[in-house]
Amino acid sequence: VKDIVACLDEFPLINNLQFSFWDWISDYYQCNLGEVYKAAIPAGLKLESQTKISYREDFKAEKQLSKTEELILSILKNSKDVSIQTLNQASGLKNALPQLKKLLEKGAIEVEERVLSSYKEKQIKYVRLFRDYSEDELGEVLNGLSRAKKQQEILFAYLNLSKHSIADKPEKVTAAELLLSSQSSSSILKTLVDKQILEIYFESIDRLDFSDSETSPLKELNAYQSKAISEIRDSFKSKNTSLLHGVTSSGKTEIYIHLIQEQINLGKQVLYLLPEIALTTQIISRLKHVFGNRVGVYHSKFNDAERVEVYNNIQQNDPEKSYQVILGVRSSIFLPFNNLGLIIIDEEHENTYKQFDPAPRYHARDAALFLAHLHQAKTLLGTATPAIETYANCKQGKYALVELMHRFQDIKMPEIQLADLKEAKRKKRMHSIFTPELFEGITLALDNKEQVILFQNRRGYAPFLECKSCGWVPHCENCSVSLTYHQYNNQLVCHYCGHSTQPPQSCKQCESTDMVDKGFGTEKIEDELRGFFPQARIARMDLDTTRSKSAYEKLIYKFENQELDILVGTQMVSKGLDFDHVSLVGILNADSMLNFPDFRAHERSYQMMAQVSGRAGRKNKQGKVIIQTHDPKHPIVQSVIKNDYLSMYQTQMSEREEFIYPPFYRLINITLKHKNNGLLTQAANTLAKSLRKIFGIRIFGPQAPLVSRIQNYYIVNILLKIEKKSSPAKAKWILNREANNLKAIERFKTVMIQFDVDPM
Ligand code: ADP
Ligand code: ZN
Ligand code: ZN
Repeated sequence: VKDIVACLDEFPLINNLQFSFWDWISDYYQCNLGEVYKAAIPAGLKLESQTKISYREDFKAEKQLSKTEELILSILKNSKDVSIQTLNQASGLKNALPQLKKLLEKGAIEVEERVLSSYKEKQIKYVRLFRDYSEDELGEVLNGLSRAKKQQEILFAYLNLSKHSIADKPEKVTAAELLLSSQSSSSILKTLVDKQILEIYFESIDRLDFSDSETSPLKELNAYQSKAISEIRDSFKSKNTSLLHGVTSSGKTEIYIHLIQEQINLGKQVLYLLPEIALTTQIISRLKHVFGNRVGVYHSKFNDAERVEVYNNIQQNDPEKSYQVILGVRSSIFLPFNNLGLIIIDEEHENTYKQFDPAPRYHARDAALFLAHLHQAKTLLGTATPAIETYANCKQGKYALVELMHRFQDIKMPEIQLADLKEAKRKKRMHSIFTPELFEGITLALDNKEQVILFQNRRGYAPFLECKSCGWVPHCENCSVSLTYHQYNNQLVCHYCGHSTQPPQSCKQCESTDMVDKGFGTEKIEDELRGFFPQARIARMDLDTTRSKSAYEKLIYKFENQELDILVGTQMVSKGLDFDHVSLVGILNADSMLNFPDFRAHERSYQMMAQVSGRAGRKNKQGKVIIQTHDPKHPIVQSVIKNDYLSMYQTQMSEREEFIYPPFYRLINITLKHKNNGLLTQAANTLAKSLRKIFGIRIFGPQAPLVSRIQNYYIVNILLKIEKKSSPAKAKWILNREANNLKAIERFKTVMIQFDVDPM
């Protein structure tokens, strides 16, 4: 039996529903529980063992210490509980381990292993009187300080700030404000503390903002919205999941807000999922207007400590203070809910809901349906462009379908104009990357003081550099992919592994110095715009410009307040943002999306174009969209123009059926990775062969993906297509067995095998 040293938590961190949920995730997505745990628990709550080194007060040097040992000791004497890393840093040594061993032998230091979580409460330092004094006693104390003017000043300042009186409780005084108001230093304050006149104490405070904001009542729904909401309510009587298929700007969000209110009235929690952090900044202010500080946000731009506090807030289930609504991106499905009534999944078609790497490779929408089931809660999916799978589930009757086909205030859907790139290039009428149509459109919008959004599916300046004489293209040294040119820092960057390098002065193949950039990304668009429209205020929203949490907020705020004229962006600008004064949306290159080699490319292009278009003309007047393409007759482009989701859906469904893809079949992708390409090929062939014996023609590959080497690992995929009627659980069990059999072969031991269930 061992003694209890410390109590780590006052209440369990994880509830039973979470355990069931994790089990399901690990089982369905074929990963281990540890991987789920890692994704589910905020890093700040994870326990890690840490080595702490400290100086032994009772140490008496018997033998001579070396110079470096002396140095280390002097650092340790001045600070307690130092980690090896900090010690290395402070001493300037690469590795202090040998010296530490010697010091340990000589009895100069202590080393302790501790299990700690990195989370620390945020504390405020306060000052108060050491004890209750009567007026007389206080007068004496002040008199006693008459020779120590500085100390007296601090005491006076304290009495003043705390509005000291014998009758009333004093007000709280922080050490910081006390020093400020008395113009004093902390050493003088310390003297008063040492004399036991004042006392320092600490109180923990929340990092999260619980300040009361002004709330306003719910907006009244219009007739279409009212009809839709009552259909949703009705559908929940017989079905657990409902899809709200509403065109962009039809007022879906207002409907969600009404449904959230109903759940709050019932004392239930609501999880509101969004595909993109940029979106949370807009929706949060709409929700706070109605629900005040009962709404919390959760996403990866919060720091570790903040995320711990959101987690604890929900966990503690405090009727006074806990959030009732959580707005978050995919990882928020892992929060410790105990009483969910409704999950809203906005923009449910977005593929950012799927986690690619690392495991668990879960789809937050699909996992949320199981989460809802655990809580016996309902799920509302919402979008203007449903995922094919989702719409098919509606058609089959698994989900209810509610439609909302009128924009709020009957603003017309934007007018969509096609700009033929081929023709403009042939007639030499391009303004750099802009067709005459788009160029004039931008000019007109700027003249009218209206805003413009320009969309391009690529960040950076140019997707690659190319030698004009021999066609050589610089590639990443770790990955089989060309490097993207970023002009702002004059670097070639690999978007897969982050490797970056200076652009070469000359071609590595023929030494020609004539290197040109090919294609264009958001950065180049921004650059060209500045040349053509020097008066316009232009900003860019992509991964490169939104690394910090406040970057999003600033960009969106500025654009909302018309401090910007043109916003250039990647898919970040396509997702559900709501701006009032955007009259023109330009899509610079529809073809790159349409021609992407993936069976979902057409579905995605439709969704992307329809969604970006939806940013135009949301209030006041009809907006305009200009799509630049080499192929204006493309059926997908045509269905975007006609706002004809259904025809896109039907064509896609018949293609999916013919070529055996979801929703008719389930897919499981098996990825093998190794640094040795030959070994990898052998392993993949062996596995594919054994799988083929079992699954026959439902096994495809091994096949190298588009980018077949990342960070020096070669990659091949084997794809399994499972008939809907056969059991996926059994197939997964077999896959696991076969993968283990392969790994049991000595020479394939080091091959990495990963599963991706329902890959996107
Ligand atoms: P969606 O989510 O379908 O794109 P939103 O809910 O964002 O649409 O609505 C579009 C715009 O119309 C928003 O600015 C919203 O505030 C406004 N709006 C929608 N419904 C109402 C309503 N019933 N009353 C007042 N304004 C509304
Ligand atoms: Zn060359
Ligand atoms: Zn790379």
